[in-house]
Formats: sequence, structure tokens, C-alpha cells
Amino acid sequence: MSANNHIEILAKSSSGNPYTVRFYLEEDGISAFCSCPAGDHRKLCKHVIRLINGDDSILYDGNQKQILLDISTHLQGTAIPVLLSELNESEILLENARKNARKAKKTLEKVVLGK
Ligand SMILES: [Zn+2]
Repeated sequence: MSANNHIEILAKSSSGNPYTVRFYLEEDGISAFCSCPAGDHRKLCKHVIRLINGDDSILYDGNQKQILLDISTHLQGTAIPVLLSELNESEILLENARKNARKAKKTLEKVVLGK
């Protein structure tokens, strides 16, 4: 595949108008560009994260499932799956830490405020 070869995927947006996510498949990775506001600022947006996670529920066009599978297959040979699972695990830890903090605050509130 040549360096200029890219894949375009339409991702659902909350406004209803899809965003275009362009992927350039490279030998050892991938380059992604999303047309959403975060993507315009070169931030890693939720569309790109969900697509590289293989989440087909974000596809605007259900006929693009095979293309998404092709991207997933390409990513298997790169560092991206490990990086993605690190991110996912960290987010689970973060969510659990938030829950624990809320619980501890509630307990402290009961003790301090006599609730
Ligand atoms: Zn985006």
C-alpha cells in the first residue's frame, strides 16, 4: 500500500452530520485525521479512539464494517493495541477511583455533618 493511500470512514456525530475520519495506513502504525472540532485541533478525539478500538457502533455507514475490520487487522502488527489497552485499563482504574472518592466523601460527610 502506498504512503498516499488512505481510507475514509464516516463517524456518527451528536449533530447528525457525520465526521470524516481519514486513516493513512503505515508500515508500523497509522495516521488519523478527523474532521470534528477536536480533530481539527489535532487532539485524539473519541471518533478516532472508538474506531481504532474496532467499535463499529460509531459507523455512520454500516457498510463500512469491513473497512473497519481491515484497519483492526492492520493495527495488530503495531504498538497500538497495547497502548489502547493501557488507556482502557487506566480509564477503568480512574472510574473506580472516582467511585471510591465519592463514597469516602459521603462517609466523611455523614460523620462531620451528622447526616
Ligand atoms: Zn473526531
